[in-house]
Amino acid sequence: MSAPVLGRFAPSPSGALHLGNLFCFLLCWLSAKSKGGQVLMRIEDLDPARTDRAYAQQAEDDLRFLGLTWDRGGLAGGPASVQSLRSGFYGEMLARLTAHGLVYPCFCSRAQLHAASAPHASDGEPIYDGRCRALTAAQAAELSKKRKPALRLKVGDAKITFTDGHYGTVTQDLSTQCGDFILRRSDGVYAYQLAVAADDGAMGVTEVVRGRDLLPSAPRQIYLHRLLGFTPPEFIHTPLLLATDGRRLSKRDGDLSLSGLRAKGFSAEDILGRLAFLAGLLERPEPVTARELVSLFSWERVPKEDVLLPPGWFVS
Ligand code: GLU
Repeated sequence: MSAPVLGRFAPSPSGALHLGNLFCFLLCWLSAKSKGGQVLMRIEDLDPARTDRAYAQQAEDDLRFLGLTWDRGGLAGGPASVQSLRSGFYGEMLARLTAHGLVYPCFCSRAQLHAASAPHASDGEPIYDGRCRALTAAQAAELSKKRKPALRLKVGDAKITFTDGHYGTVTQDLSTQCGDFILRRSDGVYAYQLAVAADDGAMGVTEVVRGRDLLPSAPRQIYLHRLLGFTPPEFIHTPLLLATDGRRLSKRDGDLSLSGLRAKGFSAEDILGRLAFLAGLLERPEPVTARELVSLFSWERVPKEDVLLPPGWFVS
């Protein structure tokens, strides 16, 4: 018998959730519930400068309003599910990697990293050329007197292949397509890649459903799962919901936040019906509850291409 499914909501509270986030969360919830599974809520507020507890609260309120409930975690879970309260755990995970001789300090400045000649990975980050990898302990100690280093993971010649539950086989050669990546920033903040892989592993998440903008991160996370001794979850990426003109929605598009839509008089059922129609689950955008969608859900019905918001939708 296969393990019970555990999905997760992992909002970064850097602004109000927008319709694109809600589209992914709906698919995440339906994927888990259609398999009789559960969902946990993890607040991804690692970066104190970019996140706010009030947005975490608002994300919880928004998801509850839509009936996308979670079975554990959230703000109420404290250190079990709020990343800003979990740095001790990330420190332990970092120590595991360090014990394997896989971590080194990097003193490069942002300007050096973004030097025009640096090739970029598919997620836009420069591919690190590994120049600090060869520093001796004495050189690193000397440099540490002037600058606090970031910590990087050696990727060696790792090639990762996995089957995305929606997009199929993905292969990434970490050394040429991503490079040694950051585990902890020079200001001491743990990197998303480390925190998310360690948390998904330790929390027993079995499926990760999220927007396909994060697909290029999955190989790094699978690599970390293996190094940390976890079984990687299944990754299922979703198409993105884009603005009518093809623009990516951002948390700054306040008019497409749920509170904005509620203020305009949209009910949870109206919003869910439209999102479900765009996800290929309904023939018409008619009001529906999240529960009613469970039996209609199948990944086969969900498009692979990104989805544009039809003109005039959600405007008034
Ligand atoms: N916290 C991330 C975000 O809101 C999502 C991370 C993930 O799903 O792996 O963009």
